[in-house]
Amino acid sequence: DDRIAKISSAIRVIPDFPKPGIMFQDITTLLLDPKAFKDSIDLFVERYKDQQISVVAGIEARGFIFGPPIALAIGAKFVPMRKPKKLPGEVISEEYSLEYGTDIMEMHVGAVEPGERALIIDDLIATGGTLCAAIRLLERVGVVVVECACLIELPELKGRDRLGDKPLFVLVSAD
Ligand code: IMP
Repeated sequence: DDRIAKISSAIRVIPDFPKPGIMFQDITTLLLDPKAFKDSIDLFVERYKDQQISVVAGIEARGFIFGPPIALAIGAKFVPMRKPKKLPGEVISEEYSLEYGTDIMEMHVGAVEPGERALIIDDLIATGGTLCAAIRLLERVGVVVVECACLIELPELKGRDRLGDKPLFVLVSAD
């Protein structure tokens, strides 16, 4: 698909951000290119439009950029998966480990119903810890997680393995 090469080249890599040694994949430059941005949304929509998905769960913060246009196009609801203490209503929380320490992901109680079919979306998978937390959160309330989708995968970190048998779809692999 010739759209992929243009999406890949629209993603900027910033060395040593947020700390020395990290090559940060920056999707904000993709957002400056309406054709490449739309192509990225279209690729996900083409994949998920006929899969009876009723929930697109987007992970804060960049899953909030890509999730809503996909949700609207496939006729699904959008559910934000947020950092702690951001959601005003009653929440269900899931703790997960980071390189140093732990973090918490939260979702509103009542946002999803048991048996609904969900797609989880984020900009990037590194170790896979974030997506795993989102999967656990949704599965705890009886949601069927059909697939996880990201624009970018860092394959060296083997996050895909951490997802076990949960399918992962990515547009770009950053080596
Ligand atoms: P993981 O939990 O190790 O897979 O890290 C994935 C999370 O960290 C995602 O929510 C990403 O948005 C964020 N992340 C890690 N590295 C990058 C990067 O290079 N660019 C953008 N986001 C990143």
